Amino acid sequence: MSVQNAQNKLIQLGYGEELRPYGADGKFGTKTSNATESFQKDYNRIFNKSIKVDGVPGPETNRALDHARNQAGVKGTKNFNISEFRCKGSGGLSKGGIDNNLLLKLEELRYDLGGNAIVINSGYRSVAHNRVVGGASGSQHLYGKAADIVVRGVSPSRVYSASDKFFNGVGRYNTFTHVDTRAWKARF
Ligand SMILES: [Zn+2]
Repeated sequence: MSVQNAQNKLIQLGYGEELRPYGADGKFGTKTSNATESFQKDYNRIFNKSIKVDGVPGPETNRALDHARNQAGVKGTKNFNISEFRCKGSGGLSKGGIDNNLLLKLEELRYDLGGNAIVINSGYRSVAHNRVVGGASGSQHLYGKAADIVVRGVSPSRVYSASDKFFNGVGRYNTFTHVDTRAWKARF
């Protein structure tokens, strides 16, 4: 695994703040080492594992990064807790959890916008709740693939432009931005 590859995965899991100001520059230094170590510690705690905590993104850590990415929709990421995506009506979650990519891309967006907190106004919606809030009948919210977000200190129009880089589905609203991980591109 290249260093850049590891850095990109660290950003997807929410450790981008520790990589600033260099980001995913492909160079291994103190920032990358610290971010890797933070991940390794969190990973051992959250997944009850005991990978080596050495700040080096070697093969074992790469497997852990992939494991954590594949569980993002169940375990959450550094900056997003799965409970934030619960249906505001039923309190439930989509079967199998929230879409992994939704969380990974929200972390990428968060990093891109400078690390401000992202508030999830609406994540998963049950069919009944989707009807109550007037959601579209085929809404991506029904599948745990969508979120209506507000980024603290960032205007919805700027959030919309930034989301365009990361999400297949992006919807512009006055007070929030809809993002989703549908398989085709949609802008509304
Ligand atoms: Zn929405």
